[in-house]
Amino acid sequence: MHIYRSEGSDVAALSGVDITVRPGEVVGLLGPSGSGKSTLLALLAGLFQPSAGKVFVGDRDLAALTESELNRYQAVDGSLMLQGARRNLVPYLTIRGNVDFARQHAAKLGDEVPTTQEVVDLIGAGEIADRPLSELSQGQLQLGALAVALAPGPGIVLADEPTSALDHAARDRILDTLLDVNRRSGATIVIVTHDPDVAARLPRTVTIRDGRIGGEGRLGQEYAVVTADGFLPLPLHVREGLPPGTLVRLERDGENWRLVPEAGGLPGGGDDVIQ
Ligand code: ADP
Ligand code: MG
Repeated sequence: MHIYRSEGSDVAALSGVDITVRPGEVVGLLGPSGSGKSTLLALLAGLFQPSAGKVFVGDRDLAALTESELNRYQAVDGSLMLQGARRNLVPYLTIRGNVDFARQHAAKLGDEVPTTQEVVDLIGAGEIADRPLSELSQGQLQLGALAVALAPGPGIVLADEPTSALDHAARDRILDTLLDVNRRSGATIVIVTHDPDVAARLPRTVTIRDGRIGGEGRLGQEYAVVTADGFLPLPLHVREGLPPGTLVRLERDGENWRLVPEAGGLPGGGDDVIQ
């Protein structure tokens, strides 16, 4: 659970989110704007602590790390790509300069980090690595942001909307690179996206809705997930046909289950039903 506290109002950005990402997995986080995706990514990056609940990375409880362990996690193990390429780049440095800067920071913490050239080669950015950022396209800047994220040779890459505002070619290049890094290094990758074409290429997606887990996807196929307490969140497109208060009979049909709405439904649109 995470609550943003500010004067006058508190916003519960996440509640009851229980998600397990296995090492080496590629997971997409989907969901409408404001549903809590960036908040979840920031919690995974250890930028702040949840108001309630725990964030484990491997067997490490992020809240239990010392300051130096957390610094190390953020600089070396868990790379966060913020939404908007430029937020990840020092504006007066080239891509090569930015990668160098990020890797030196990681190297200071005593790790074997890839060389700058290895990172530039990994993303195939040789041609643009030494040009001023002001000359680069949005897609090239995003490639630069990805290079910075990969500079420490991270075990986890957390990418917030890395393909938004890109044309299809640039989008595919970023996604191909992320998938390639996963295959080659086994890094765990979490990608926030609202692009169905991106989601369709991801082995697993998790949809966040109103701060909760709203569904799972596999290569573009959507599934609702039965919660531990037996609830079944309906996907949005199903909800449109089943307004609040609809009485639904659950019928077994061989291997399958059928949802059969009754005419009439509850008076008051189901307002009395415990949420
Ligand atoms: P998403 O990335 O899915 O668009 P966010 O995680 O950014 O969603 O936001 C989830 C909710 O938390 C929204 O209601 C948003 O307005 C609120 N929120 C996000 N950041 C802050 C903040 N710094 N202070 C207060 N509320 C915030
Ligand atoms: Mg966001």
